[in-house]
Amino acid sequence: MTRIASTAPRLFVPDPLSEGSETLLSPAQAHYLRDVMRMNVGDAVRLFNGRDGMWLASIAALGKSKGALGVESLIAPQRPEPEIWLLFAPLKAQRQDMLVEKAVELGVSVLQPVLTQRTQTRRINAERLEAQVIEAAEQCERLTLPEVRPLAELSGVLGAWEPSRRLFYGDETGNGAAALAAFSAPRGVGGDALLVGPEGGFSPQELDVLAAASFSSGVGLGPRILRAETAALAALALWQAVRGDGARLPGH
Ligand code: SAH
Repeated sequence: MTRIASTAPRLFVPDPLSEGSETLLSPAQAHYLRDVMRMNVGDAVRLFNGRDGMWLASIAALGKSKGALGVESLIAPQRPEPEIWLLFAPLKAQRQDMLVEKAVELGVSVLQPVLTQRTQTRRINAERLEAQVIEAAEQCERLTLPEVRPLAELSGVLGAWEPSRRLFYGDETGNGAAALAAFSAPRGVGGDALLVGPEGGFSPQELDVLAAASFSSGVGLGPRILRAETAALAALALWQAVRGDGARLPGH
Protein backbone atom coordinates (compact mmCIF):
# COMPACT_ATOMS: atom_id res chain seq x y z
CA MET A 1 0.00 0.00 0.00
CA THR A 2 1.66 3.24 -1.12
CA ARG A 3 1.82 6.07 1.41
CA ILE A 4 -0.64 8.20 -0.50
CA ALA A 5 -3.15 5.35 -0.53
CA SER A 6 -2.82 4.82 3.20
CA THR A 7 -3.56 8.46 4.04
CA ALA A 8 -6.20 9.22 1.43
CA PRO A 9 -9.70 9.71 2.89
CA ARG A 10 -11.99 6.68 2.83
CA LEU A 11 -15.52 6.91 1.53
CA PHE A 12 -18.36 4.41 1.43
CA VAL A 13 -20.11 4.31 -1.95
CA PRO A 14 -23.02 2.06 -2.92
CA ASP A 15 -21.78 1.48 -6.48
CA PRO A 16 -19.92 -1.59 -7.77
CA LEU A 17 -16.15 -1.01 -7.70
CA SER A 18 -13.82 -2.27 -10.44
CA GLU A 19 -10.82 -0.99 -12.39
CA GLY A 20 -11.88 1.91 -14.61
CA SER A 21 -15.34 2.26 -13.11
CA GLU A 22 -16.62 5.70 -12.14
CA THR A 23 -18.67 6.66 -9.12
CA LEU A 24 -20.51 9.90 -8.45
CA LEU A 25 -20.11 11.78 -5.17
CA SER A 26 -23.11 12.69 -3.08
CA PRO A 27 -23.45 16.41 -2.29
CA ALA A 28 -22.20 15.72 1.25
CA GLN A 29 -19.20 13.79 -0.05
CA ALA A 30 -18.36 16.54 -2.58
CA HIS A 31 -18.57 19.13 0.19
CA TYR A 32 -16.37 16.99 2.47
CA LEU A 33 -13.64 16.43 -0.12
CA ARG A 34 -13.69 19.96 -1.52
CA ASP A 35 -14.37 22.19 1.47
CA VAL A 36 -13.30 20.14 4.48
CA MET A 37 -10.37 18.18 3.03
CA ARG A 38 -9.53 20.94 0.51
CA MET A 39 -8.92 18.36 -2.23
CA ASN A 40 -8.67 18.87 -5.96
CA VAL A 41 -9.06 16.95 -9.20
CA GLY A 42 -6.41 14.23 -9.37
CA ASP A 43 -6.14 13.70 -5.63
CA ALA A 44 -6.44 10.15 -4.25
CA VAL A 45 -9.42 8.77 -2.35
CA ARG A 46 -10.04 5.23 -1.01
CA LEU A 47 -13.43 3.64 -1.65
CA PHE A 48 -15.31 0.65 -0.25
CA ASN A 49 -18.84 -0.59 -0.84
CA GLY A 50 -19.05 -3.54 1.56
CA ARG A 51 -18.67 -6.10 -1.23
CA ASP A 52 -15.70 -5.46 -3.53
CA GLY A 53 -12.86 -4.65 -1.14
CA MET A 54 -11.08 -1.30 -0.81
CA TRP A 55 -10.06 0.56 -3.99
CA LEU A 56 -7.79 3.48 -4.82
CA ALA A 57 -9.60 6.16 -6.81
CA SER A 58 -8.78 9.67 -7.97
CA ILE A 59 -11.00 12.71 -8.16
CA ALA A 60 -12.11 13.16 -11.79
CA ALA A 61 -14.37 16.16 -11.15
CA LEU A 62 -15.18 18.16 -8.02
CA GLY A 63 -17.69 20.97 -7.61
CA LYS A 64 -19.54 22.58 -4.71
CA SER A 65 -22.14 19.85 -4.45
CA LYS A 66 -21.16 17.17 -6.94
CA GLY A 67 -18.18 15.30 -8.25
CA ALA A 68 -16.95 12.05 -9.74
CA LEU A 69 -14.21 9.58 -8.91
CA GLY A 70 -12.32 7.32 -11.29
CA VAL A 71 -11.66 3.91 -9.72
CA GLU A 72 -8.11 2.75 -10.39
CA SER A 73 -6.72 -0.20 -8.43
CA LEU A 74 -7.58 -2.65 -5.67
CA ILE A 75 -5.89 -1.81 -2.35
CA ALA A 76 -7.34 -4.60 -0.20
CA PRO A 77 -9.58 -7.48 -1.23
CA GLN A 78 -12.90 -8.01 0.55
CA ARG A 79 -12.35 -10.42 3.41
CA PRO A 80 -14.81 -12.27 5.60
CA GLU A 81 -15.51 -10.42 8.85
CA PRO A 82 -16.80 -12.00 12.06
CA GLU A 83 -20.57 -12.05 12.40
CA ILE A 84 -21.56 -10.58 15.74
CA TRP A 85 -24.92 -8.89 16.34
CA LEU A 86 -25.55 -6.24 18.98
CA LEU A 87 -29.04 -5.75 20.41
CA PHE A 88 -29.24 -2.57 22.47
CA ALA A 89 -31.88 -0.44 24.12
CA PRO A 90 -31.92 3.14 22.78
CA LEU A 91 -30.05 5.48 25.09
CA LYS A 92 -29.87 9.23 25.56
CA ALA A 93 -28.18 11.00 22.62
CA GLN A 94 -24.46 11.15 23.53
CA ARG A 95 -24.45 7.74 25.19
CA GLN A 96 -26.11 6.13 22.19
CA ASP A 97 -23.71 7.94 19.84
CA MET A 98 -20.83 6.39 21.81
CA LEU A 99 -22.41 2.91 21.79
CA VAL A 100 -23.06 3.00 18.02
CA GLU A 101 -19.64 4.36 17.04
CA LYS A 102 -17.73 1.89 19.26
CA ALA A 103 -19.88 -1.02 18.08
CA VAL A 104 -19.00 -0.20 14.46
CA GLU A 105 -15.30 0.15 15.31
CA LEU A 106 -15.45 -3.19 17.12
CA GLY A 107 -16.83 -4.94 14.06
CA VAL A 108 -20.50 -5.48 14.86
CA SER A 109 -22.31 -6.91 11.84
CA VAL A 110 -25.92 -6.16 12.83
CA LEU A 111 -27.23 -3.34 15.04
CA GLN A 112 -30.71 -4.12 16.39
CA PRO A 113 -32.22 -1.43 18.65
CA VAL A 114 -34.77 -3.02 21.01
CA LEU A 115 -37.45 -1.50 23.24
CA THR A 116 -37.40 -3.06 26.70
CA GLN A 117 -39.75 -2.42 29.60
CA ARG A 118 -37.43 0.13 31.21
CA THR A 119 -36.18 1.80 28.02
CA GLN A 120 -36.44 5.55 28.58
CA THR A 121 -35.70 6.72 25.02
CA ARG A 122 -38.44 5.08 23.00
CA ARG A 123 -37.51 6.22 19.53
CA ILE A 124 -34.57 5.99 17.13
CA ASN A 125 -33.52 8.50 14.47
CA ALA A 126 -32.82 5.90 11.80
CA GLU A 127 -31.31 8.38 9.32
CA ARG A 128 -28.90 9.76 11.93
CA LEU A 129 -27.99 6.24 13.01
CA GLU A 130 -27.22 5.23 9.41
CA ALA A 131 -25.01 8.30 8.91
CA GLN A 132 -23.14 7.58 12.17
CA VAL A 133 -22.55 4.00 11.08
CA ILE A 134 -21.13 5.03 7.69
CA GLU A 135 -18.86 7.65 9.25
CA ALA A 136 -17.53 5.21 11.85
CA ALA A 137 -16.99 2.51 9.22
CA GLU A 138 -15.09 4.93 6.97
CA GLN A 139 -12.87 6.01 9.87
CA CYS A 140 -12.03 2.55 11.21
CA GLU A 141 -11.23 1.10 7.75
CA ARG A 142 -13.58 -1.86 8.01
CA LEU A 143 -14.67 -3.19 4.63
CA THR A 144 -18.35 -3.60 5.47
CA LEU A 145 -21.19 -1.58 6.92
CA PRO A 146 -23.16 -3.18 9.73
CA GLU A 147 -26.80 -3.77 8.93
CA VAL A 148 -29.00 -1.40 10.95
CA ARG A 149 -32.37 -2.95 11.71
CA PRO A 150 -35.56 -1.07 12.60
CA LEU A 151 -36.38 -0.48 16.28
CA ALA A 152 -38.42 -3.40 17.61
CA GLU A 153 -39.82 -4.65 20.92
CA LEU A 154 -37.38 -7.01 22.64
CA SER A 155 -40.23 -9.49 23.19
CA GLY A 156 -40.89 -9.59 19.45
CA VAL A 157 -37.22 -10.05 18.58
CA LEU A 158 -36.91 -12.90 21.09
CA GLY A 159 -40.15 -14.44 19.87
CA ALA A 160 -38.79 -14.60 16.33
CA TRP A 161 -35.27 -15.63 17.39
CA GLU A 162 -33.42 -18.24 15.31
CA PRO A 163 -32.46 -20.67 18.10
CA SER A 164 -29.17 -21.65 16.44
CA ARG A 165 -27.86 -18.14 17.12
CA ARG A 166 -26.43 -17.76 20.62
CA LEU A 167 -27.63 -14.67 22.47
CA PHE A 168 -25.35 -13.47 25.28
CA TYR A 169 -27.08 -10.84 27.41
CA GLY A 170 -25.34 -8.59 29.90
CA ASP A 171 -26.59 -9.65 33.32
CA GLU A 172 -25.48 -7.24 36.02
CA THR A 173 -27.42 -9.07 38.71
CA GLY A 174 -24.63 -11.61 39.13
CA ASN A 175 -26.56 -14.59 37.80
CA GLY A 176 -24.60 -14.82 34.59
CA ALA A 177 -21.39 -16.64 33.80
CA ALA A 178 -18.18 -14.66 33.45
CA ALA A 179 -18.21 -13.41 29.86
CA LEU A 180 -14.75 -14.81 29.07
CA ALA A 181 -15.84 -18.31 30.11
CA ALA A 182 -19.12 -17.98 28.22
CA PHE A 183 -17.36 -16.81 25.04
CA SER A 184 -14.77 -19.59 25.39
CA ALA A 185 -17.46 -22.30 25.35
CA PRO A 186 -17.89 -24.36 22.16
CA ARG A 187 -19.51 -22.31 19.40
CA GLY A 188 -23.04 -22.82 18.14
CA VAL A 189 -23.77 -23.20 14.44
CA GLY A 190 -25.68 -19.97 13.95
CA GLY A 191 -23.34 -17.18 14.98
CA ASP A 192 -23.54 -15.03 18.08
CA ALA A 193 -25.37 -11.95 19.35
CA LEU A 194 -24.92 -9.67 22.33
CA LEU A 195 -27.69 -7.83 24.21
CA VAL A 196 -27.32 -4.97 26.67
CA GLY A 197 -30.18 -3.36 28.57
CA PRO A 198 -31.17 0.27 29.09
CA GLU A 199 -30.03 2.64 31.81
CA GLY A 200 -32.50 0.99 34.20
CA GLY A 201 -31.48 -2.55 33.36
CA PHE A 202 -33.72 -5.46 32.40
CA SER A 203 -36.95 -5.99 34.32
CA PRO A 204 -37.29 -9.16 36.44
CA GLN A 205 -39.73 -10.51 33.86
CA GLU A 206 -37.24 -9.90 31.05
CA LEU A 207 -34.47 -11.60 33.01
CA ASP A 208 -36.76 -14.59 33.60
CA VAL A 209 -37.55 -14.87 29.88
CA LEU A 210 -33.87 -14.52 28.96
CA ALA A 211 -32.80 -17.06 31.58
CA ALA A 212 -35.43 -19.56 30.40
CA ALA A 213 -34.74 -19.32 26.66
CA SER A 214 -32.69 -22.17 25.19
CA PHE A 215 -30.62 -19.82 23.01
CA SER A 216 -29.60 -17.19 25.58
CA SER A 217 -26.98 -16.99 28.33
CA GLY A 218 -26.43 -14.25 30.87
CA VAL A 219 -22.85 -12.97 30.99
CA GLY A 220 -21.11 -10.95 33.68
CA LEU A 221 -18.59 -8.23 32.83
CA GLY A 222 -16.99 -7.85 36.24
CA PRO A 223 -18.23 -6.69 39.63
CA ARG A 224 -19.05 -3.09 38.74
CA ILE A 225 -22.32 -1.79 37.25
CA LEU A 226 -21.32 -0.53 33.80
CA ARG A 227 -23.15 2.07 31.73
CA ALA A 228 -24.93 0.34 28.85
CA GLU A 229 -22.49 1.80 26.32
CA THR A 230 -19.55 0.57 28.41
CA ALA A 231 -21.07 -2.90 28.72
CA ALA A 232 -21.64 -3.09 24.96
CA LEU A 233 -18.08 -1.98 24.23
CA ALA A 234 -16.53 -4.30 26.81
CA ALA A 235 -18.57 -7.32 25.69
CA LEU A 236 -17.79 -6.70 22.01
CA ALA A 237 -14.06 -6.26 22.63
CA LEU A 238 -13.96 -9.45 24.67
CA TRP A 239 -16.02 -11.36 22.11
CA GLN A 240 -13.75 -10.25 19.26
CA ALA A 241 -10.65 -11.24 21.23
CA VAL A 242 -12.00 -14.71 21.98
CA ARG A 243 -14.23 -15.54 19.01
CA GLY A 244 -13.62 -12.86 16.40
CA ASP A 245 -10.79 -11.07 14.70
CA GLY A 246 -9.28 -9.47 17.79
CA ALA A 247 -6.04 -11.34 17.19
CA ARG A 248 -5.66 -9.96 13.65
CA LEU A 249 -3.07 -7.18 13.49
CA PRO A 250 -3.86 -3.84 11.82
CA GLY A 251 -3.24 -3.98 8.07
CA HIS A 252 -3.53 -7.79 8.00
N1 SAH B 1 -29.51 -2.27 36.70
C1 SAH B 1 -28.33 -1.40 36.68
C2 SAH B 1 -28.31 -0.53 35.46
C3 SAH B 1 -28.19 -1.31 34.16
S1 SAH B 1 -26.71 -1.03 33.32
C4 SAH B 1 -28.30 -0.53 37.92
O1 SAH B 1 -28.65 -1.05 38.95
O2 SAH B 1 -27.93 0.64 37.83
C5 SAH B 1 -27.22 -1.22 31.67
C6 SAH B 1 -26.92 -2.59 31.07
O3 SAH B 1 -25.52 -2.81 31.00
C7 SAH B 1 -27.46 -3.76 31.86
O4 SAH B 1 -28.81 -4.02 31.52
C8 SAH B 1 -26.54 -4.90 31.43
O5 SAH B 1 -27.00 -5.44 30.19
C9 SAH B 1 -25.22 -4.20 31.20
N2 SAH B 1 -24.31 -4.31 32.33
C10 SAH B 1 -23.95 -3.34 33.21
N3 SAH B 1 -23.04 -3.80 34.09
C11 SAH B 1 -22.82 -5.11 33.79
C12 SAH B 1 -21.99 -6.14 34.35
N4 SAH B 1 -21.16 -5.90 35.38
N5 SAH B 1 -22.04 -7.37 33.78
C13 SAH B 1 -22.86 -7.62 32.72
N6 SAH B 1 -23.66 -6.69 32.15
C14 SAH B 1 -23.64 -5.44 32.68
